[in-house]
Amino acid sequence: MSTAPASTVTLSGDFARALPEMSLPWQADEATAPVLLALNEPLAAELGLDPTWLRGPEGLRLLVGNHVPDGATPVAQAYAGHQFGNYSPRLGDGRALLLGELAHADGHPRDLHLKGSGRTPFSRGGDGLAAVGPMLREHVLSEAMHALGIPTTRSLAVVATGNPVRRETVLPGAVLARVASSHLRVGSFQYARATDDADLLRRLADHAIARHHPAAAEAERPYLALFEAVVAAQASLVARWMLVGFIHGVMNTDNTTISGETIDYGPCAFLEAFDPATAYSSIDHGGRYAYGNQPAIAQWNLARLAEALLPLLADDQDRAIALAVEALTGFRTAYDAAWSAGMRAKLGLPGDAVVEPLVDDLLVLLQANHVDHTSFYRALSAAARGDAEPVRGLFLDLAGIDAWLAGWRVPEPDADAMDLVNPVYVPRNHLVEEALAAATDGDLGPLDRLLDAVRSPYDERPGLERYAAPAPEDFAAAYRTFCGT
Ligand code: AMP
Ligand code: MG
Repeated sequence: MSTAPASTVTLSGDFARALPEMSLPWQADEATAPVLLALNEPLAAELGLDPTWLRGPEGLRLLVGNHVPDGATPVAQAYAGHQFGNYSPRLGDGRALLLGELAHADGHPRDLHLKGSGRTPFSRGGDGLAAVGPMLREHVLSEAMHALGIPTTRSLAVVATGNPVRRETVLPGAVLARVASSHLRVGSFQYARATDDADLLRRLADHAIARHHPAAAEAERPYLALFEAVVAAQASLVARWMLVGFIHGVMNTDNTTISGETIDYGPCAFLEAFDPATAYSSIDHGGRYAYGNQPAIAQWNLARLAEALLPLLADDQDRAIALAVEALTGFRTAYDAAWSAGMRAKLGLPGDAVVEPLVDDLLVLLQANHVDHTSFYRALSAAARGDAEPVRGLFLDLAGIDAWLAGWRVPEPDADAMDLVNPVYVPRNHLVEEALAAATDGDLGPLDRLLDAVRSPYDERPGLERYAAPAPEDFAAAYRTFCGT
């Protein structure tokens, strides 16, 4: 695929055209001294963008929103949302802009979106800005998720703006150029529903169907089929998070996509010692978004989507509710199937093996022994090859793990298959913090080395041992993440 120079970057503006009521034309702040901190060259290539041009002055200005290609109309998108269970009728892009849609090599358009680009009419009390650390965090974490095969928005680039950002201290500012299948969220539908404009809600649903779930258009009830497709996509997504130990940290309805992509890498973190109650976010006091709550929260968020869609599901409200409730129960079935299939693969077991009792016993042992989630499954493939010592070394209760291993070995686990699904390298919290602190001080070396490790997560390489090792215990116990707002 050939790459386009500056003048031919084409942003189509589909969302703004289809849904003007939810699109506020707006401009990014001027970046006084843009400096490129990270560029995702493989992604640029998929989008037909020339990396050399993106690195140049005009490319950098595109990536911070100061060069608007001919015909493009940057907009702040309106949305609502439940944040920690409380409804806000008007959230919207308070520090972000949708530049428009780009063509992608796979034929499906992508949003090009900026985060940290300045105040908008949705900013409320916020400054509209983002600091270098949190934007690079999104870059690393989303690249790691992509490399793990988990649906996610992606980071095309992070550009330091040269502008200061005031948080607890003054920090260097940055803009993240984010690429997504779309930025349609459950909160988008809540916003449209709350306007009481039935035509707007229908146009939004039609837009979502065309963009993400085109098969729904052929169904007997297209809007019910849309809802079912979102339920299925979210069930599959959250199962993937649980299998890899990803804790999103802020599963508000405005951070729940219609596409089924992971979005918003604010306070997320990877699980260390296995414990369903783990919540790292400094603002998640009640543990609402703890690791083990994620499936139930996803289903709760989908119930909010169902409420928003009710007028489209059937003319009779009782009938609409009955259809929605039935579709929502599909979440648990789809989630359980994805989780069991994923655990079967992680344990290297054949397709006909019954895994539920084995998994239940394992999770009890992992939690009681404070075993590192990521290390365990890689150590287990050594056990499948005949050396159980690496896995036994993770447990205090040796009788317990020995008994479990004996049961696990019966269906003859396949070690090579396990190594294809159990990562060696995830972006461990202490390494992420180390890399971001260095980058904030101007040293991108640790960030680049971390990216190199997590971009090939299943491929164990000599010299990268520290990227596979758990955090020191005192670090893990005190670890907190922040929204970066
Ligand atoms: P988030 O927690 O990142 O999903 O954001 C929730 C809402 O807060 C969205 O409407 C954001 O646009 C808005 N927001 C977050 N940070 C800022 C900021 N620094 N300035 C203005 N709005 C913000
Ligand atoms: Mg958000």
